[in-house]
Amino acid sequence: MKILVINSGSSSIKYKLFDMPKEFLISKGTIEHIGEKGSKFSDHYSGLKTILEEFDSVKAVGHRVVHGAEKFKKPAIVDSKVIKGIKECCAIAPLHNPANLSGILACQKLLPGVKQVVVFDTAFHQTIPAHAYIYGLPYEYYQKLKVRKYGFHGTSHEFVTAEASRILKKPLNKLKLISCHLGNGCSITAVDKGKSVDTSMGFTPLEGLVMGTRCGDVDPALVTHIMYKKNISAQEMERILNKESGLKGISGISNDMRSLEQEARKGNKRARLAIDIFIYRIRKYIGSYLSVLGGLDALIFTAGIGENQADVRDDICRGLFQYLGKKPRILVIPTNEELMIARQAYKLIVPRA
Ligand code: ADP
Repeated sequence: MKILVINSGSSSIKYKLFDMPKEFLISKGTIEHIGEKGSKFSDHYSGLKTILEEFDSVKAVGHRVVHGAEKFKKPAIVDSKVIKGIKECCAIAPLHNPANLSGILACQKLLPGVKQVVVFDTAFHQTIPAHAYIYGLPYEYYQKLKVRKYGFHGTSHEFVTAEASRILKKPLNKLKLISCHLGNGCSITAVDKGKSVDTSMGFTPLEGLVMGTRCGDVDPALVTHIMYKKNISAQEMERILNKESGLKGISGISNDMRSLEQEARKGNKRARLAIDIFIYRIRKYIGSYLSVLGGLDALIFTAGIGENQADVRDDICRGLFQYLGKKPRILVIPTNEELMIARQAYKLIVPRA
C-alpha cells in the first residue's frame, strides 16, 4: 500500500512515498520557494499538484503537524473536527500549523476520497506529568492562554526509542532511555517505559538546549532588559532569540556544527566556546534526567550532529556516568520521522495491522 508522507513548511514541502507495511521507500524529494517571487509554485496546492503528478494509486497521506496542544494525544484521521482542532492550535504555533494545514487542505482537494492522517510533533510528550509541564507562572495563564510545556520532535524521539528497544532486545516497558535529538533544532527527552516523562523544549521550540540559532534556556528577565536597552519590539526580540542566537550568536560564525569544529581546530576561541556551551547544556540536561528517571539503560543520539559528529558525542559522554553502578549503552540511531508517520498512518487506516 502506497502511503505518501508530507511535511509542509511555510515555503517548502518535503515528501517521502513508502510501500507499507514493507517500509520500502519508493521516492522522496523537496519542493522549495513556495509563494516566493518568481517561483513556479504560488501555493501549497500547486506544489503538491506537481508532486502528485509523479505518483499513482496513493492510498493514504500522512501529514506532519507541529502543534496538537492538549487536543491531540495521538495521530488522527482527518475530518472536519480534526481540521477545526488544528486551526485552533494555530494561535500557539503561528509559524508552523498554518503551513501544515495548507498541505492537508490541498491534499483533500487533489486526492478526494483518499484518507489523510495527521501526526503531531507534540503528541508523544502528552504523557509528561503536570509537575513537569506547568511553569512557575500564575495558573490562569495555563487555563486561559494554554501556556505550558508541550515539547517537540516527538515523532523523532518516539522513533529512536522504539529502535533502541529493538536493538537492545528489551520491551520498551522495561527501559529507561534518554534521547538526544541534535540537529539544527535540538531537544532531549527522558523516556520511562516507552513514555515521555520530560523534555527540554517547552511552550515553543525555543526552550532547553542551545541550538543552531535558538538560545535555549535563558533568564526570562533578560528578554525584557534587552528590549528596553536596545529599544526593540517583541517581534524583533523573538526573531533574535530564534534566528540570531545559539551557536550562530555565540560564535559569530555559523549555526553549522561542522564549520564550528573546523574553526575551533584552527584556534578560533569563540567557535570553541560555542561548542563547549552546547555540550555543557546537554550534559546538564542528561544529569537532571538521570534523576528524573532514577537510572538509565541507554543514551540515544540522533539527527545531524547526534548521528555524525563523534567528537561532540565523546565530549558529551566523557566521565558522565562514572558514578552510576552500571554504565548505560550509548546508541547512535538515525532518525526517520517520515517512516514513523507512515507507520502511524498505516496503523490507523488498517486497524488490525
Ligand atoms: P535539521 O534540524 O535542520 O533537520 P539536521 O538534523 O540536518 O538539522 O542537523 C544539522 C546539523 O548537523 C548541523 O549543525 C550540521 O553541521 C550537523 N551535521 C554534521 N554532520 C552532518 C551530516 N553529515 N549531514 C547533515 N548535518 C550534519
